[in-house]
Amino acid sequence: MTAVGYIYNAAFLCADDARELGIRQAHEHGYAMSWGDCGDAEETLSAWASMIGLDRDDETTFTSHEFPKRVTQAQAERAHGERADTWCSTCGWNLAQPF
Ligand SMILES: [Zn+2]
Repeated sequence: MTAVGYIYNAAFLCADDARELGIRQAHEHGYAMSWGDCGDAEETLSAWASMIGLDRDDETTFTSHEFPKRVTQAQAERAHGERADTWCSTCGWNLAQPF
């Protein structure tokens, strides 16, 4: 299951902005490593999750207000089909657009 983006606080995030969020939050919670240009969203979000003791692979243990949940291509397309906004709240990238 590949994530095309994430949903956090009732807003969509593209992978790039989720990566940035993961870096910021991980550092805020005391994570020491500097990412530079390495690490994708999955890695930086996992670093954040580990700092707060959250099991992000079990999405029933947290809400999308506590931590970003993965949005799959199918979910994004379904939301788009229902005329919901599927744009990244930060940069405007449309999560539902085909790759
Ligand atoms: Zn974005």
